[in-house]
This record gives sequence, C-alpha cells and structure tokens, in this order.
Amino acid sequence: MSARRVLVIGAGIVGLALAWRLRQGGAEVAIVDPEPPGEGGASFGNAGSISSSSVAPLAMPGLLKQVPRMLLDPAAPLHIPPGYWLRAAPWLLRFVASARPEAVARAAAAIDTLQRLATEQHLELAREVGVPELILPHGNLYLYRSREQLAKDQAGWDLRRAYGARVELLDRDGILALEPEIGPAYQVGVSLPDHAHCASPQRYSRAVADAFQRAGGEVRRDRIRALTVAEGRVTGAEGEARRHEAEEVVVAAGAWSARLLAPLGYRIPLETQRGYHVNLPAPGISISRPVVPADRKVFITPMEGAVRVAGTVEFGGLERAPNETRAALLYDDLAAVFPQARLDRSGGFWMGHRPCLPDSVPVVGPSQRLRGLWFAFGHGHLGLTGSAPTAAMLAPAILGRPVNQDFAPFAAERFA
Ligand SMILES: Cc1cc2nc3c(=O)[nH]c(=O)nc-3n(C[C@H](O)[C@H](O)[C@H](O)COP(=O)(O)OP(=O)(O)OC[C@H]3O[C@@H](n4cnc5c(N)ncnc54)[C@H](O)[C@@H]3O)c2cc1C
Repeated sequence: MSARRVLVIGAGIVGLALAWRLRQGGAEVAIVDPEPPGEGGASFGNAGSISSSSVAPLAMPGLLKQVPRMLLDPAAPLHIPPGYWLRAAPWLLRFVASARPEAVARAAAAIDTLQRLATEQHLELAREVGVPELILPHGNLYLYRSREQLAKDQAGWDLRRAYGARVELLDRDGILALEPEIGPAYQVGVSLPDHAHCASPQRYSRAVADAFQRAGGEVRRDRIRALTVAEGRVTGAEGEARRHEAEEVVVAAGAWSARLLAPLGYRIPLETQRGYHVNLPAPGISISRPVVPADRKVFITPMEGAVRVAGTVEFGGLERAPNETRAALLYDDLAAVFPQARLDRSGGFWMGHRPCLPDSVPVVGPSQRLRGLWFAFGHGHLGLTGSAPTAAMLAPAILGRPVNQDFAPFAAERFA
C-alpha cells in the first residue's frame, strides 16, 4: 500500500509536532506556511511554559464579576478596548456561559485527557529531534501577594489537585528556597514541580522542522487561500503559489484557522487573544524556572540568552496594529517581582495571537462533515504545552491505525 499523502496547513509548533509524528508513522507529509517554520504565529514568542497540569479553563465561576474591569481598565491583565466591544460580544457571551460549573468540569476533563503527559511528551520530542537541552523539567512557581489573593484562585488549584497534580503551597521562606531573588511584595507561592519549560520556543520549532525535513518531510512556503472539496471529501488546498494535492488535510493554522474553514460552513468562535513579550538579555537576576505573578498573569521565564517577560491578554482581532502600551506593562510586572532588575527597555517587543475558543478546549480530530479533513487548532494559552500531546493523540487516527480515542469533546461541531 502506498503512503498516505498528508498536507498540514500551518507550521506553528502544533502543525510541526504533528507533521513530525505523521512522518515518523510513514506518511508522505508536506507542511505549508507563508512564513518559515515556527515564525509566523504565537509559537515564535510564547512564554515557554509546559503547563501539563493547567486543566482549569480560562472561564471559571466568578468570571462575570471581572468583566467590567476587562472593559474599562486598559492596564487590566485582560483588556477589551472599546472599539472592539461589539466584535467581541458574541464570543464573550459564550465565554461567560463556559464558566458554568458543568461546562468547567467538561472542559477540565478534556484538557486533562490531552495534556496530562505533556512534560514527558515534550522531553521525548526534544530528544527525538536532537535538542534535549531545550526542555527543562524544573517546575513553575506562581506568586501571590497575600493569602487573600491566593484564595481568589482557589477553585483553579482545587481542580488541578482533583486531577492528580502536585500543587505545593509555599510561604515566603519556601519561595526563597526555590528562587532566592524574588522581592518582598510576594509572600505566598504555589510550586508546580511537574511543569517544565522550553528555553527557546523558536529554536524548538526550528529543530522539529529540520528533523522533519531530514526524515523526508517537505516544508512548503505558501499561503493557503481555500481548501478544495469533491464529493464529500477534501482533496487538497489552493495556495497563492500553487495547488497542494493530498488525501488528508490538517488545519493547524492557529488563530487563522476559522477563516480557512468558514467557506466550508464552519462557524467556529475562534478569537485571538493578543499577548506580548519583551526579552531582557542582562536584567541582572537569576531564576531557574518560569515565575508567574498570578495577579498579573505574566510569565517571567529564563530563556537562552535572555529573561523573557510574556503575557497580558488583549482583544483586538488579527489585523489591528500592536499596542506598545500593553507591552510596556511587562516591565512594571518584572519590577514588581524583582525590584533589583535592570530594566533595559531598548530591546523592542513582540506580539502574538493566541488561538482562543470560549471553552478553552482545542479543536482536535476528524471533521464530522467531510472525509479527509482534520483539525488541530485553538489551543489558546496552552498551545506549546498541547502541541506534542495533540500530535500523539491525532497522528495515529490520521495514519488510519486503530485508535481508542474519543474525539467528541474536541469536535469542531460542538459549536454548530
Ligand atoms: C505572549 C504569549 C505567551 C504564551 N505562553 C505560552 C506558554 O507559556 N505555554 C504554552 O503552552 N502556550 C503559550 N502561549 C500560547 C501558544 O504560543 C499558542 O497556543 C501556540 O503557539 C499555538 O500554536 P499553533 O501552531 O496552533 O499556532 P501558531 O504558532 O500561531 O502558528 C500558526 C501558523 O499558521 C500559519 N498560517 C496562518 N494562515 C495560514 C494560511 N492561510 N496558510 C498557511 N499557513 C497559515 C501562520 O503563518 C503560523 O505560522 C502563549 C502565547 C502568547 C501570545
């Protein structure tokens, strides 16, 4: 039997990890993106955390109380600018509905199924593609100013514990035992020893792409305009540069995925939550794991050659220009945790598009409407974490192997 021809649309870390697994499984695989692998989307500049136990969806009970601040405070961790209120409204309504206890329980179960082995799967992927040094299993450290502040997140921590995560509460001495340079504003900590981080998301993506090509996979530079369909089956895709024939087509185009699927009748509520990073090559502080001031929802991550401060959530769509004021907040967040840090603001900033669905559960699995069409997008704040697990879950099904995987919780059709 000849090898299956698979086209993966989107060379972010999700598409790349999947392309690699498919090639390992013997398929003839091409991955297509107008940008070089790992450079066109969120995978380029994320905070690098591999958050295997982060099963709590973004929408948790109590969300409604936070909405006024999201709308009115431009410095809030999550902000929706007035010019985008109307556009965001339908998504926000679904988001608020996703905070109902039964919806949260459903989402947490699905997220856990996908990513509970994420640390091990990334260690394995990094080893396979020749960059074991990039995945560091040193845990994550969350920080709170007080017990009262911690109490606001209690439901999320309880949910993680219910799924078996190790969640260790620390006092100030416990924080300093892990990261001695953290300043006095943060008095309470939560250590997640099973998390890991990637010391260079960009180099990681590139390493997967290089290994994929060495193994005979094809990287094509093209922007897909439309998928092609005949007799209830996807037959490939039409790009700006050429036509791409394939028997199986995977949409893994991050925040741009819903646009590609709209002409096929899919109305997927995929919203970009724009996030920012700044890199500080010499901040004069030393840390060994991602440190997360929880009140700001920002990650401070030790990366190759720099400390990266990444986070904040801003609505604003795929086209609007980045907002430098949001990026500048990241320096204040760093200073709040490390008052002694040297804040060299000359390095510029980066903005990326997190592909977010209202229930925080990515769309992964086969189309229920068209044969040969597969989905791997919508991983939101956790797409680096979810990439290797998505590949492990989806590749066997695309390769036509017998699989014991229920894709229903991840179905695109749940939004129909
Ligand atoms: C500031 C920030 C911090 C984050 N921190 C973390 C973290 O610590 N841990 C974590 O797990 N996740 C984190 N994330 C989320 C994570 O980065 C994303 O979920 C993940 O990168 C999504 O990967 P992807 O491959 O689905 O999409 P992307 O990386 O966005 O890639 C999509 C690709 O599709 C391509 N594309 C688009 N349209 C087309 C088309 N028409 N034809 C062909 N190709 C197309 C794009 O060029 C792009 O290369 C963070 C995100 C941000 C913004």
